[in-house]
Amino acid sequence: MNQFLSRRTFILIPFMSFLKIIFKPLQVLASSQASKEDWNLSKSEWKSRLTPESYFILREEGTERAFTSPLNNEKRKGVFQCAGCGLPLFLSDQKFDSGTGWPSFWDSIQGSVETKVDFKLIVPRTEYHCSRCGGHQGHVFNDGPLPTGKRYCNNGLALRFVPD
Ligand SMILES: [Zn+2]
Repeated sequence: MNQFLSRRTFILIPFMSFLKIIFKPLQVLASSQASKEDWNLSKSEWKSRLTPESYFILREEGTERAFTSPLNNEKRKGVFQCAGCGLPLFLSDQKFDSGTGWPSFWDSIQGSVETKVDFKLIVPRTEYHCSRCGGHQGHVFNDGPLPTGKRYCNNGLALRFVPD
């Protein structure tokens, strides 16, 4: 009997921690989906909110020409927000000069962006977008600086800089 109990405990403990792992992300997901619905705007609603250039980037996964964004040379302290919904995506401390002609970051604010793989250039690339409104931001590559080794290559037109 004792043996049976201890065996059951053995099974229960990992099972309970497994449940914790499963249920925690579900709660987070539920709250992010609730706010996502507020941003489920129609094409014409987005068009009235955005400039045609920002609409092309954010809603049609466009890419601006390199070296065209004034945010390339932005070096002040502050926050880079999604130009679609205002969600803070990057901190100025996460920005670095990649020399590519697009604002670049080695990390994003936790939970602010989501990724998917796209094949627009045939070679698979990791696209990322605002986790709240779904607006396309750019692509993330694995050739960035330490500590993450990531390079978030962002369209300046998809961002709004708010200095501290
Ligand atoms: Zn957004």
